[in-house]
Amino acid sequence: MWLGWLAVGLLAIGGWCLLADGLPQDIAYDVIGLASVGAIVAGIRIHRPERAAMWWWFAAGNFVWVLGDLTYEFYEHVLHQEPYPSLADAFYLSAYPMMVVGLLMLVRQRRTGAGLVDASIVATSLGLMLWIFVIQPIAADSDASTLERLIGVAYPAGDTMMLFLLAGLATNGRKGSPSSHLLGLATLLLLASDVTFAVLSLYSDQQPSVLDAGFLISYVCWAAAALHPSMRGSVAGEEPDVRMTRRRLVLLAITAVLAPGLLFVPSVGAEQLARWAVGACGIVLFLLVVGRMSGFVATVQRQSGQLADLAMRDDLTGLANRRRFEQAVREALAGGRPTVLLLDLNGFKEINDDLGHAVGDRLLAVLAGRLRNAVHPDSVVARMGGDEFAVLLPDARPGDLPVVVDRLAGTLHEAIRVGEHDLLASASIGSADGAGLDDPVEMLRRADVAMYAAKHEGAWHRAYEPGLDERAGAEARLGAELRAALDAEQFRLVFQPIVTLPEGRLAAVETLVRWEHPERGLVGPDDFVPVAERNGLIVELGAWILRTACLRAAGWRREHGPAAPPKISVNVSARQLAQPGFPDTVREALATSGLPASALAIEVTETAVFTGGRAVEALHQIRAQGVQVALDDFGTGHSSLGLLQSVPVDILKVDKSFIDNVTKAGRHAVIASSLIDIGNGLGLATVAEGVETAEQAAELHRLGYRLAQGYHFGRPVLDPMAPSRDAALTFAAVQ
Ligand code: C2E
Ligand code: CA
Ligand code: CA
Repeated sequence: MWLGWLAVGLLAIGGWCLLADGLPQDIAYDVIGLASVGAIVAGIRIHRPERAAMWWWFAAGNFVWVLGDLTYEFYEHVLHQEPYPSLADAFYLSAYPMMVVGLLMLVRQRRTGAGLVDASIVATSLGLMLWIFVIQPIAADSDASTLERLIGVAYPAGDTMMLFLLAGLATNGRKGSPSSHLLGLATLLLLASDVTFAVLSLYSDQQPSVLDAGFLISYVCWAAAALHPSMRGSVAGEEPDVRMTRRRLVLLAITAVLAPGLLFVPSVGAEQLARWAVGACGIVLFLLVVGRMSGFVATVQRQSGQLADLAMRDDLTGLANRRRFEQAVREALAGGRPTVLLLDLNGFKEINDDLGHAVGDRLLAVLAGRLRNAVHPDSVVARMGGDEFAVLLPDARPGDLPVVVDRLAGTLHEAIRVGEHDLLASASIGSADGAGLDDPVEMLRRADVAMYAAKHEGAWHRAYEPGLDERAGAEARLGAELRAALDAEQFRLVFQPIVTLPEGRLAAVETLVRWEHPERGLVGPDDFVPVAERNGLIVELGAWILRTACLRAAGWRREHGPAAPPKISVNVSARQLAQPGFPDTVREALATSGLPASALAIEVTETAVFTGGRAVEALHQIRAQGVQVALDDFGTGHSSLGLLQSVPVDILKVDKSFIDNVTKAGRHAVIASSLIDIGNGLGLATVAEGVETAEQAAELHRLGYRLAQGYHFGRPVLDPMAPSRDAALTFAAVQ
């Protein structure tokens, strides 16, 4: 609509230009003026702007202006009197305050100091020009009457006011709406026409009618601004941007230099009063520029301060970051007797992988807040990266540490609700004190070693002691050795029978790995699988175990037919299972060996699957291939029964701890009895693990167990098919 108006308006102005000088042209002029006022009112009615008052002021100003036009023409055409000075000027001049009020309302909101200074610079400089070239000559015109001079000065004075406001609008650093642009244009046109008019009437007698076109276009633009839909909202939607852009700098430089430049104009340089004016304005401008620059410098300094602060802060949690923490440790070491605690979350990677980074981030943020609240305000809490946090107790007394550890453990133990998930965090804490130390890096290293020791032992907390260094070094060496051992083919697989009760018939074998160390001899998995798990080698090692086990099993089937173990099971660690390609590894192992999927089971522990997500998804995929899933060490985790609802399982392996005392009355016997009921109830194959005596076997059978594994039936052996003198291979029948 506003565009239509603009087009019609400009066309009308074109038509107006073609009309001959005289009454018809003047009437057309008034019609356009009145139509514009009407359009502004219409705009207010249609768009219902937030700042209706401002627009009403503009409408009133324009209307009074048109009244001035009418009066002017009345003097000219009806009274045939010189219209200047006359009542028309009264109308014109009284329109100024209305416009100024309107513009003030437009400019006033959310001005910044810097924007105000910029506006002052521009307005001072331009105002000075106006004064030198327009106001002063008019005031000095000795031919004119006092009234004429007064009125003559009043116009440019009003223009100066509007100019100031326009400069304010242009420099307030806001991306204005189209409506405010049109407003600015209208004001600018008005000012330009006004000033040209004044200058022309001062220096020549001609007043070309083109000038009137300027006023007309100004009317039309004003109305277009009111018709544009963007007039509705506030112009101040966004933060004002008063940065020192290059454009702004050039604008300010030019305007600031204009004033002193005037001195080079001969007529100005010659006149005392003008020189004074230029001098005074020059000083004002200089001060304004200095003010602006110092504001600018202050901003830069403040921002660089904020940057420095940011560089010391962890984005996600708002805690101190590693840099800041090391600094704090350094200061604390110089002052008191600090203690450092390093916390590493357990299972965070799985949460991140399975539930997504957003959940992981949320968890970290919540934990950060809890840690912060759990310690004394003097303590520094930092996020060291990933899922590792640190706490500095700047001056710890001997009894403080256990208290703090307890508190931290306590806060971590409460479940954290993130979206629909209830997450349980646990952490391993390592601590080190600063006794005899001055290097923060060494102190953190010690806490780190202690933390790894805690993780290793599955303990909550471990304090640093020199012996740990050796162990940590040993683990690092062992990790490297494992890598080499895999390449040198030092790993062996042994197989332990799983038999039926009561017959003792071979039902399956479990694959267990051994390391044939060139010096140390046969090393058990408990001594190296956890290390391989931590350094990631388990993925490669596990794939090798799976492949080799399938090849062996397929070989037995070919050679021994029905005498071969009907099934083989392979242990899979948490990290392996969480590896995205794991289901494919299983598929390939079956394909290359030719072993039927139904002859393979994988054994997973509760901890590997209890975070849900990817690990459980992998189990579904593996089962879809026809491979069975066994839940290992069943009953030792903290949500064994709950898992049976969410995790796809075919086989339960009841942990040895429940079997050990099955022949004595007591808790364990009761649990062993309940577990077989659960297994049977759910239709799962249930294996009793670690059966060492015939009595245990008999009791288990009585309780309902039909599958068992243990030294009583056979130890793990290299070749379960070899006719051997090895006692372990003659499977003892029960009864
Ligand atoms: P697990 O899966 O619970 O394996 C059973 C462990 O109990 C084996 O120890 C086995 O030798 C032992 N065992 C069997 N019967 C008896 C018994 O009657 N009495 C006693 N005292 N022990 C018995 P091993 O071979 O030392 O393995 C220990 C653990 O290492 C395994 O526990 C398993 O968690 C892990 N592991 C073994 N092989 C592998 C493997 O190939 N991959 C992975 N990821 N982990 C493995
Ligand atoms: Ca197992
Ligand atoms: Ca087990």
